Amino acid sequence: MATAPATPESPVAALLAALPPGLATADPEALAPHLLDWRGQKRGVAHLLARPRTTAEVVALVRAAHAHGAALVPQGGNTGLVGGSVPEPAPERPTILVSMQRMARIRAVDAAGLCLVAEAGAILAHVHEAAREAGTMFPLSLGAKGSATIGGLVSTNAGGTQVLRHGTMRNLVLGLEAVLPDGTVLDQLTPLRKDTAGYDVKQLLIGAEGTLGIVTAAALRLVPLPAASAVAWVGVADLAAALALLGRLRQAVGERVESFELVPADGLALVLAHLPGARPPLAEPAPLNCLVELTDADAGAPLADRLASALADALAAGEILDGTLAGTGAQAQALWALRESLPVAEKADGPSLKNDVAVAVADVPAFDSAARAAFARAFPGARPLVFGHLGDGNLHWNLRAPAGADASDWLARHGPAARRLLHDTVVGFGGTISAEHGIGTAKAAELARLGDPGRLAAMRAIKAALDPADILNPGKLFA
Ligand code: FAD
Ligand code: ZN
Repeated sequence: MATAPATPESPVAALLAALPPGLATADPEALAPHLLDWRGQKRGVAHLLARPRTTAEVVALVRAAHAHGAALVPQGGNTGLVGGSVPEPAPERPTILVSMQRMARIRAVDAAGLCLVAEAGAILAHVHEAAREAGTMFPLSLGAKGSATIGGLVSTNAGGTQVLRHGTMRNLVLGLEAVLPDGTVLDQLTPLRKDTAGYDVKQLLIGAEGTLGIVTAAALRLVPLPAASAVAWVGVADLAAALALLGRLRQAVGERVESFELVPADGLALVLAHLPGARPPLAEPAPLNCLVELTDADAGAPLADRLASALADALAAGEILDGTLAGTGAQAQALWALRESLPVAEKADGPSLKNDVAVAVADVPAFDSAARAAFARAFPGARPLVFGHLGDGNLHWNLRAPAGADASDWLARHGPAARRLLHDTVVGFGGTISAEHGIGTAKAAELARLGDPGRLAAMRAIKAALDPADILNPGKLFA
């Protein structure tokens, strides 16, 4: 690609002048909201904000970035939790924040073919609505669904609360359109159910955190809209009991277990304190709570009865302490709100160290005990807040400072060592330091320290081959 030298005095102005009119602005006020991450912990630096409306405009951005030695940082809803969507300071290099929010069209919904094509900036909640209107469901949901976008979800290989049954984003993308770092358009949007013609390049972009291409649209797998569902909130004494319940439910209803989420007593207390109108679901608080949802496409499936009888058996066997079944859709929603509001309540409570680890499901109780013992020794008083997608072995094993400590100061002093301790423990169990949020900048040093050397070498080789000028999201993933 030809390189047009920018004048050293004003490389940013030269870059802006080279872009199609109206595509980008240098207005600091327009940029500001895009530069602070969701946690409010990382402020980035960019010179220009670009808001493309078409794939052709994204191509123009990539070409201009090449010509001017600029960096491009793709951003969707900016709800990522690892600093990936916020640009690193690069004083020598013009940086363009590429907000995909204007490319938000749902291009097609094919109910018979169970496929929906959405542009990268489409918000997850809108995709849910469009799928539902067609009598189908897009089976991926998470607490940030009102802001998170398809491009961000693809690029972080997002998980959420239905992975147990439907898999992560990787399982739900049937086709992808993206602009590669040299300006080539990857046009793999046709929703083929089978395609063995060479490397699956679209899978490389899923979970690449914007380092290998800018996703412009995705063809997503839909499932028939569940016609029956049953939701219960169940109190248990410990993680082993929670997993016994999961096993019992699977015996009873097989793959109809759609979600199996964990909310601890201290997490529920935070939600009750911060969520207006929230009420405790059980008469007596339990040490741990499981939020269970069963679904079936068959409207006649007796799911509530099956769930009630499985819970009665579990109670009789001493596996669970208590439970409540949602009797109406509104009650089910209220129970889900308790789970989904947990990250927001945690944020309102003050800064904490956010983690996103996973081990094999059967190893969860032993891993959690080992991590708690290690933290009690190394960081007495620090308060783990452990919740999340228990059915997937994926726990947000977060850490709050000791009660009464200045949380920001404590985390600044102990956060890095605490994170290393948790990650060493998880790797000791053969687990992963990132199950669903990705690496970004928050975990780049830890990936370099603990990642499999073979995988890391292959990742570097792929990045160097596709993006030799390091135009796309520099400073992310790799320490
Ligand atoms: P952003 O935050 O804007 O970007 C995330 C990454 O993707 C960045 O590296 C960015 O550069 C890149 N990117 C964005 N758009 C594009 C594009 N079009 N092309 C290329 N790269 C792009 N995540 C889960 O997996 N499971 C959960 O349960 C979950 N719960 C959450 C709950 C809350 C309350 C919050 C705030 C976040 C939660 N997250 C969860 C994290 C977050 O919502 C997801 O990571 C989501 O996928 C980010 O989408 P986004 O559009 O906001 O992406
Ligand atoms: Zn999660």
